[in-house]
Amino acid sequence: MEWSKRWFEGFKGVLREGVDLAPRSHIRIGGPARVYAEPWAEEDAALILRVCREHDLPWVVLGGGSNLLIADSGIDAIVIAIDAWQRVVKDGNRLVASAGASLPALLRQAKDASLSGLEGLIGIPAQVGGAVAMNAGTATSETFDSIVSLRIVDETGEIRTLERDELSPSYRNGNLGDVLVTTATFELSTGSPTAIQQAMKDHLQKRNATQPVTEKSVGCIFKNPEGDAAGRLIQAAGLKGEAVGPIEVSTKHANYFVNKGGGTAAQVLELVDRVRNRVREEFGVELELEVKLWGY
Ligand SMILES: Cc1cc2nc3c(=O)[nH]c(=O)nc-3n(C[C@H](O)[C@H](O)[C@H](O)COP(=O)(O)OP(=O)(O)OC[C@H]3O[C@@H](n4cnc5c(N)ncnc54)[C@H](O)[C@@H]3O)c2cc1C
Repeated sequence: MEWSKRWFEGFKGVLREGVDLAPRSHIRIGGPARVYAEPWAEEDAALILRVCREHDLPWVVLGGGSNLLIADSGIDAIVIAIDAWQRVVKDGNRLVASAGASLPALLRQAKDASLSGLEGLIGIPAQVGGAVAMNAGTATSETFDSIVSLRIVDETGEIRTLERDELSPSYRNGNLGDVLVTTATFELSTGSPTAIQQAMKDHLQKRNATQPVTEKSVGCIFKNPEGDAAGRLIQAAGLKGEAVGPIEVSTKHANYFVNKGGGTAAQVLELVDRVRNRVREEFGVELELEVKLWGY
């Protein structure tokens, strides 16, 4: 990718070459970003997208890095991180959250304000923008259940508001296309603080008992096929504990691959192939990746 800092005249924020992304990914794998950009304000993000369009530069948005597998050689693109955008504002029964705020911080604010509706998302390690982009959720609820509108920068660099009826999320996909989410507005209902706290505690206990939450992973590596669970199929194929180097099919939940230390993206993908082949041979089911691949 050919690029020049001159093109970004007027940009306020961080713009650097060769920033290592492994520490930014939950599984602690990945090479550098060719260009790493942290816009201070929405207008600076819009400027980046206008420049990218004008000069045909590839760009991606980095959220909490918990659903990404970044190539060992890195990614030849402008990687935009919005960690500086952290505000969550209460407006009646609504919470207006900047996309860089962490999902746990949003849930804490909801609990403190006695607002109910987000409890089922407890324990999902994400930024608000990443949760929206992926329509993160569980069997009981998902991010779009309470979204009423989004503010985005579109691929032309225009800042726009999208109302709920303009959005068509599906399973683990916000279906937003090439946009950068800057703000999400959630409409919640008034609840009792103890009931909210108890619901969060129950969800968290279930998650901690069934998922390797303290290990380095990308969450569920495969989408659940229609009417079944990828983890059940992988386990039934006898693949719990299967490993390529330090990358292992979790013994706690077979749809998680964990990095025991020093693993590479190439090893993750080798394990993906092995698991896919075995599940196809045993059950005739083609597993589809849920994790996003960067740099391939
Ligand atoms: C231990 C663990 C448990 C998990 N449990 C769950 C679970 O229960 N349910 C579930 O759904 N997921 C789960 N995940 C996966 C992950 O947390 C979700 O997919 C989450 O939504 C990813 O958010 P993120 O901010 O980390 O996004 P990233 O991983 O950084 O990015 C994911 C995608 O979102 C895009 N994106 C990020 N921010 C923005 C933005 N502001 N605007 C536009 N696009 C953006 C990225 O470009 C990328 O395509 C889990 C992961 C781990 C590691």
